[in-house]
Amino acid sequence: MSRQQNRLVGDRTRGRSGLGSQGGRPGCPRAIEADLVSEGLANVALDYAGRAWPVVPLHSWTGSGCTCGRADCSSPAKHPRTAHGLKDATTELAEVVAWWKRWPEANIGLLTGVMFDVLDIDGEEGMAAVNSAVPWNGGAWDGGPTGNDTIDGPTVITGRGHHVYVAATGQGNKAGLLPHVDWRGKGGYVVAPPSIHASGRCYEWFPGWGLDQEIAPAPAWLLELLTKPATFAPSQGTCQPQRDGSAYGRAALEQEVGRVLLSREGERNHALNRASFAVGQLIAGREIDDAYGAVEALRRAGEAVGLGHEEVVATIGSGVESGSLQPRRSQRRVS
Ligand SMILES: [Zn+2]
Repeated sequence: MSRQQNRLVGDRTRGRSGLGSQGGRPGCPRAIEADLVSEGLANVALDYAGRAWPVVPLHSWTGSGCTCGRADCSSPAKHPRTAHGLKDATTELAEVVAWWKRWPEANIGLLTGVMFDVLDIDGEEGMAAVNSAVPWNGGAWDGGPTGNDTIDGPTVITGRGHHVYVAATGQGNKAGLLPHVDWRGKGGYVVAPPSIHASGRCYEWFPGWGLDQEIAPAPAWLLELLTKPATFAPSQGTCQPQRDGSAYGRAALEQEVGRVLLSREGERNHALNRASFAVGQLIAGREIDDAYGAVEALRRAGEAVGLGHEEVVATIGSGVESGSLQPRRSQRRVS
């Protein structure tokens, strides 16, 4: 456990007792016994489904690669195993049992935007960004002026950051909500404990902030962050502020989808990757407000030209995520 995480534990457990012994490295005790891992994953997946949290089986880490077998897998041990990906997510216990019988070591994906959304905080940079986004001194975990503005729902320690579960807001995914911080909402998912990260670490519930912690509504400062239009400095002159989504965004999306549909064999994955990158830029630039619809359009185009579903999902995921780091807007001068 890093110093930052230790500090975080200190912050988050202020005033709570019995947590002093939790300071060790977040190890992966289940990994000692392969059988225990399998049994643990199946049982926990059932537990999630029993809470009405839609579950989907994900690929796993073999120790040397992703179980999808692709040497260049862009989302190792994180992407869905089933034919229709997130669309297959279910709370049907019989289906969950069947999946984990078929793939006992499958990592567990939980759909966001249904029972909860997730603030996905990457590393110390992400934690610093969240703490500096709150409108008071002391950071996101101190409760704020009313003592009630904190985001201390169930929290997962991930490969190198944290997932904080918040009651569903109705918002879609937002990559780059803050630097090194993403929002997983409608149309998204997260990898849940006790899945095993490609680094070999287990996803674990944060000591004292586990599964049974209440999933609280997003505090006002977070809702504001989620709904406010992005403010990017205009490169020159004065740009007219635009409403979320635009004719420019729609036309650009159509063009990108068209490029995928017209791509030639051997260039299709590359075309999809380029289109996904462009769409990620437009989503982050608020030229496209229906991120879910845009990703669906890309997915349909990718599958229409014969790319496999998993390849399509992985390519779109990485392309959109990379593109969102470089937001793009149309530059319309005020005349
Ligand atoms: Zn893979």
